[in-house]
Parts: sequence; structure tokens; C-alpha cells
Amino acid sequence: KDLDPALLAQAAGAAAPADLDAYWMPFTANRQFKQAPRLLARADGMHYWTPEGRQVLDGVAGLWCVNAGHARPKIVRAIAEQAAEMDFAPPFNMGHPKAFELAEKLVQITPAGLDKVFYTNSGSEAVETALKMAIGYHRARGEGTRTRLIGRERGYHGVNFGGVSVGGIAGNRKTFGPLLGGVDHLRHTHDLARNRHVRGVPEHGAELADDLERIVALHDASTIAAVIVEPVAGSTGVLLPPKGYLERLRAICDKHGILLIFDEVITGFGRLGAPFAADYFGVTPDLMTVAKGITNGSVPMGAVFAKSFIHDAFMNGPEHLIEFPHGYTYSAHPLACAAALGTLETYADDGLLTRGADMARPFEDALHALEGLPHVLDVRNIGLVGAIELEPIPGQPAKRAFDVFLECWRRGVLVRVTGDIIALSPPLIVETSHIEQIAGTIGEVLKAQA
Ligand code: PLP
Repeated sequence: KDLDPALLAQAAGAAAPADLDAYWMPFTANRQFKQAPRLLARADGMHYWTPEGRQVLDGVAGLWCVNAGHARPKIVRAIAEQAAEMDFAPPFNMGHPKAFELAEKLVQITPAGLDKVFYTNSGSEAVETALKMAIGYHRARGEGTRTRLIGRERGYHGVNFGGVSVGGIAGNRKTFGPLLGGVDHLRHTHDLARNRHVRGVPEHGAELADDLERIVALHDASTIAAVIVEPVAGSTGVLLPPKGYLERLRAICDKHGILLIFDEVITGFGRLGAPFAADYFGVTPDLMTVAKGITNGSVPMGAVFAKSFIHDAFMNGPEHLIEFPHGYTYSAHPLACAAALGTLETYADDGLLTRGADMARPFEDALHALEGLPHVLDVRNIGLVGAIELEPIPGQPAKRAFDVFLECWRRGVLVRVTGDIIALSPPLIVETSHIEQIAGTIGEVLKAQA
């Protein structure tokens, strides 16, 4: 069988494990990967190293999660010490001090009003938890007809059934249908005809929030539990909310008693140059999901932040009975709590939750210098997240960006590819020299592949 020459070139010198067969890899082109594996063996600061010692600059914070950079000493130490002290504590009807300490510290940095924390192990689990909280909240108040969930086209909310149902990625949905009933979608806000090469939020499209009014008119507000959106849609290519859009969504939710959920799994913990996107946009949701940056990617963890009124609605019935029948064996896992405490300390020490605001300008300038290069349809950015959207190769969707990803990797820069979009989200410790290397490499690759 003929192998792709790009893959062969990339594999040159790579030290592969003896057998790649058994591991069925997630969200990966398994057969292609196994022809020429891309392996990472070590990480520190802004860089990865391959098993054979090649240095790779991390342009995506691992997978939008290593916000403080790799191998930060306070996080490493916190995990090691916790593993030695207490490996596990049951989270049901039992607790451990770090879970409470972390919750108190978290609610000090979350937007005002989001005062309660529920721990999960991933973003996907945080989403399921938030959706169940929303439905349970209405039921607890005697509004059991409010079960309908509203997502958005091109939204990504993880891979569990609720998240895929409210999510708006056709490729993730079609293999597993019919998914949850009673779900509707707002239209996405990505419109290159009206907004191109925008720095920050686009001018046009706030009226798309009125899709929610149309759904209310169709189904009646008394059937709708919640709307979930990513303030900035990350995984489908860094799609920015038009100016005024999130405010409008908030107002419509308030008008109709619908809960607003922000999925801040990517935007949380400093990505936009503010602690959370809710802070950046000045719009506070009723529920907020996070993961990734909560432990700097070091130990799996997610969380849902809830306004007190939602929590309090569950706090009824006999006091010895469970109020919210939901949770995970590894909720508030001691290693994750320790890692998160070390992470919050690291963020505070280095001022990372707002550093993105200082670095946004050089990042923006470097990215927008790529406008006009071959096949570049759009460049967009906000804080320390950005995207370069490419013209697809006719008949071969997603191939052009994937080739760029492979060639960047070969040249020592890790970027993220989604469809024909290259997404960038470097660790928040990024310096101008790294930004120049990331954008410069992409520029050279685009020219070479023209
Ligand atoms: N929600 C959003 C907005 C995400 O970006 C992601 C992951 O990228 C998830 C949920 C799912 O998180 P996880 O992969 O930790 O389950």
C-alpha cells in the first residue's frame, strides 16, 4: 500500500513503540496515525519533546488546557505529595479538606453569583451535570414541564449523550442518532460574508440570539429548561460571538425564565485575558461548566458552577436524603483537588488569569499578518485564542488544514486542526518570540504548500 510521502517524511527518525495495535485512539484517524505516529515523551514550559529528543513548541496548550505551561513545580509537587498522603476518598456522604478548600478558592475567582461548585472529571461530565441540574431545578420548583434543552449549531459540549445532543457538530451526531429528544438549536454565528479578518468580536450578527424567541414561540417557554452555548466556540474553529449577542441571549432567557449555561471548558481560566469569558463579556450565566485549565491539564477534572438559587431549590425534603442524585466515583478526587490548588496558586503567582490581555495584541498582529497568504479565507482572534480558516481543497474537505498541521509538526510547532481551520491557543506564559515562531511557521508552510 502506498504511504503518504508527508507521513513518511514526518516519521523519519521517530521512535515508535513496538506495537500500536491495541490502543484505539480517541478523535484520531487511527489507521493513518499508525502509519507514522506522532509521539510526545516529555514537556516543560512552552515545549514538548518527542521520544527521540526533538523539541516542539506548544501552540495549543496541549489541548486548550495547559494554560500555565507544562511541568509547573507547584502543581507537580501538589500531585506527588497528595498521592503519598491520601490516594482516594469516597465523595458520597464523605469529604476531604482539599475539596472544600478548593471550592472556596474557586468561587472567589468566578463571576459574582456563581457560588456553588459541583466536581466532575471532565468537560463532558460537567456538561451532563449542568443539563441535569437545569432540568432538576425546574422540577424542584414545580415546573416539571421545562425539560427542553437548547444548544447551538457548531457547538461542542463533549461526547456524552446530552452534550452531543445539544452540540451542533454533524459528524459527531450522525453516527449515534437519534440522541436526546426535545432538543433545539440556535443557528451558529459564523458568517464570513459579513465578518472577515475581524480582530476581536464581529460587528454583525447579534440578532441571531433572537432564534431563541422563535423557539419559545414554537414550543412555549413553559417547556424550555435551559440554553447552553460556548461564549466563544472553540473546537469548531474559534467562532466569536457578535457584539451584543450574549447580552441579548441573557435578556431573552431572563424574560422567559430559561436558565443560561455557559460552557467555559476552553474559555475558562484566562484564555480570553479575563478569568472567564463571563467576565470578559460582562454576562453572567446561571450555570457555568469548566474543565481543562482547572488543573492545568495535569489531572482530569471538571466542575459546574451554579448560582445559589439553583442549588437552594434542591435543598428540600428530609435532611438525611440525597438532594441531587448525581455524582461520580472520582468527583473531588484528592489528586485533582491538589492539582487544582497548585494550579490556582501558579495562576496567581504569575498573574496568568489576565496575562492574555497583555499578550493579545502581539498575538493578534502576528496572526493577522497571515491574511492574504495563499488559501487563507479568514483570520480571527480574541485574547490568546485564534484561528486561520483555509479554503478547502475541492472535493477533499479538511485535507488542506490537516496537511498544514502535519508540516507544522514536522517543523517543530504543534497547532490544532478542525476541519479546514487551524486553531491556536498557546499557554498563557507565551512570549512574543514564541508567537512569532508559531505564526512564522504557519506562514512558511502556507507559502510552501500554495
Ligand atoms: N465543552 C467544551 C466547550 C469543550 O471544548 C470540551 C472539550 O474540548 C468539552 C466540553 C469536553 O471536555 P472533555 O474532553 O474534558 O470531556
